[in-house]
Parts: sequence; C-alpha cells; structure tokens
Amino acid sequence: MYKKKIAIVGGGLAGVYAAYRLDQAGIEFDLFEARNRLGGRILSTETGLDLGPTWFWPDVQPRMSEIVTQLGLVAFAQHEYGDALLERGFGQVSRRQGYRSGNTTMRIEGGTTRLISTLSASLPANRIHLGTEVVAANLDENGVALRLGANHSELHSYSHIWLAIPPRLTQRIAFDPALSEHCVSRLYSVPTWMAAHAKYVARYSHPFWREQGLSGDAFSSTGPLGEIHDASNGETSALFGFFAISALQRGRFGDAELRNHCREQLNRLFGDEAGNPLEDWIQDWAAEQFTASADDQTPPRWHGLYDLTNVIDNTWDDRLVLIGSEAGGEYGGYMEGALLAVDVALSRVQEPRPAPI
Ligand SMILES: Cc1cc2nc3c(=O)[nH]c(=O)nc-3n(C[C@H](O)[C@H](O)[C@H](O)COP(=O)(O)OP(=O)(O)OC[C@H]3O[C@@H](n4cnc5c(N)ncnc54)[C@H](O)[C@@H]3O)c2cc1C
Repeated sequence: MYKKKIAIVGGGLAGVYAAYRLDQAGIEFDLFEARNRLGGRILSTETGLDLGPTWFWPDVQPRMSEIVTQLGLVAFAQHEYGDALLERGFGQVSRRQGYRSGNTTMRIEGGTTRLISTLSASLPANRIHLGTEVVAANLDENGVALRLGANHSELHSYSHIWLAIPPRLTQRIAFDPALSEHCVSRLYSVPTWMAAHAKYVARYSHPFWREQGLSGDAFSSTGPLGEIHDASNGETSALFGFFAISALQRGRFGDAELRNHCREQLNRLFGDEAGNPLEDWIQDWAAEQFTASADDQTPPRWHGLYDLTNVIDNTWDDRLVLIGSEAGGEYGGYMEGALLAVDVALSRVQEPRPAPI
C-alpha cells in the first residue's frame, strides 16, 4: 500500500479545482504553477473585465453552473439585447436586428477570475508553489519524482502526477521513462483551445451603445477585430473584441499601433466615444509561453474532437493523469472540460486498488 500524494502541474482552472477537490477529500497534494499567478488562461482586470474566458452555458455545461452556485458566485446573462453591426468594407457599417443565442450564455459577476480566487481561498498556502515550472518527471518503484526549474535543485516524490497543462506543453517536460512516440504525437495533435487568439478590451464610463439600441455585438471582415461584444460587468462598462488578424500579423504591429487600430475600428462602428476608452487592454495568448506552443500560433479551423482517452503509455500506468480542459472529452477546451477531467481523475484515485494476487 502506498500513500497517496498528488503533484498537480499547472494552476489554471483544472489545477486549482483539482487542489480544491483533493483538499476536500483529505488527499495530500502540491500544486506547481510556472507563472507567478493562478488562473492560467483565466485572467480578468482588477475591474472584473475578462481577458481570457468569459462565457459558460448552463443548459449544456452542468458542472460550471454547479460550481458557480456552490461557491456562492453570481452569474448573469451576456448582454445581447439590441441591434448588431456589420462591417463589410472599411467604414461600410450596417445595422442588423440582433438575435439571441439558443443556449443562455452566462458570465460571472466580478470576472471569471472570481472562480479561481474563490476556489483557492481555502487552500493551504504552503501547498501552492507559484513561479515554479516542472521540467522533469521520473517514474521508479517509489513513485514519481519531479524536478523543478530555475533555482530548484531538489527532487520531490509523489504517488501520482496530474498534468493540468495544455497537452502540447508536455513537450517542455522531460519524462523518464520517455513517453512513446505514439503518445507524444497524440498529445501534440491536440490544439490548445483559444491559444492562438488575442482579445482587446476597452472600458468606458457608461454603456453608450445600449442607449443607441445596439447590443454591442459587431462582426467585421475589415478588422483588426473580427467579432465584438458587450463586456460590461456590474458597474463596469466595456466592449471587447477577438482579433481577426493572425498572431504573426499582431506581432508585426507594436502594442501602441495595434491599440490605435482597435480604437479607430470601434470609432467607425460605435462612434467617437468608443474611440476614446478610459482604459484598454490587449491580451495576446499566442505570445504566452505557458499557454501556446509553436504549433498554437495558428488556430485550428474548427473545434475538433478532444479525445485523449488512454493516451498515456502503460509504463506510466495510472501514475500520470491528464486533467487540463483539453482532456475534457466532449467539453474539451472549455472550462467545463477542465472540471470534468478533474472529476474523472478524482473518482479513479479514490477507487480502492485491487489487492495483489
Ligand atoms: C481568449 C480566450 C477565450 C476563451 N473563452 C472561453 C469561454 O468563453 N468559455 C470557456 O469555457 N472557455 C473559454 N476559453 C478556454 C478556457 O480558458 C480554458 O478551457 C481553461 O481556462 C483551461 O484551463 P486549464 O486549467 O485546463 O489550462 P490553463 O488555464 O492553460 O492552465 C495551465 C496552467 O499550467 C501552467 N503550466 C504550464 N506548463 C507548466 C509547467 N511545466 N509547470 C508548471 N506549470 C505549468 C500554466 O502557466 C497555466 O497556469 C477561452 C480561452 C481563451 C484564451
């Protein structure tokens, strides 16, 4: 019989939710996070504006609604009332009757980071290791030993390692024994959802577009933003857009030039006020080494199948488990997928091991 002690690699939603569930179950863990903050792809401004994920769909994502309710967070519907704008050519803006999406699209008051701050609030601080990249994992008869990057020379031993990172980032970790070629190629074949994307968010004193009967939704073939929505959260009024130009093109513009292009576009669409935000942000996920790999600079053409069942080699048996959102099966890539993958891992680790014959 061995003592269960889990190493969680990655402190995004999957890692933090795993720590929360393990803590509740009384199972020992350490969480290692390469960045100096928790949340991973979940990131909001101090004013609660989301620079990463913002939506969940309770009609089809039961775990997200359950955890939001359980944590006492307040959910509200995405503002969709009013007309949408279409920009077909430079400055050729037309107005279309808005439509409401079939499933109710919900958001979290105060920003999606509330999920992370609330889940992590009760965790033992000495079990959370920020600024700590895991660079190697060795499996032997005693369990799994981890080697940590920069300034950490010691090895740490665990019964299991739960990888709460995008599958493609496993290439940054040296596994001994090495993962088979088949396993590695399956891991690399899974794109990191939204990693190729960037968001522009602009804050205003009030939601002036609503006063004009506009929803804040806009779709443009001109760019730089391809799809724009109302991003207001509580008292904070804002618009956000996804860039339609590639990571390579974004890199060629400097931050200031890119920002100016976004302001000009919002001006063309929503008028002068929109071109003069109180504050604005650009968050480019493709430029983040702990989110996007070289293969994630171009987005996949569609949201493909995220099937990572039985991907890990027999040598590692059940000692190495994928729990990031990309391992979330039918919900792969979404926050719901991260919760599902953790629930599955937890149910397995809690199963009694068969007695040796
Ligand atoms: C712009 C954008 C919009 C999105 N919109 C939505 C949405 O509306 N709804 C939705 O459901 N989903 C959306 N998503 C997807 C959602 O963000 C992800 O599904 C979810 O946040 C992933 O959580 P995760 O914990 O699996 O991975 P991540 O959040 O990527 O966390 C992985 C963590 O591991 C760390 N890490 C990586 N390598 C190592 C290492 N070797 N050692 C230690 N730490 C390491 C990273 O720093 C990171 O913190 C969006 C994503 C983006 C970028």
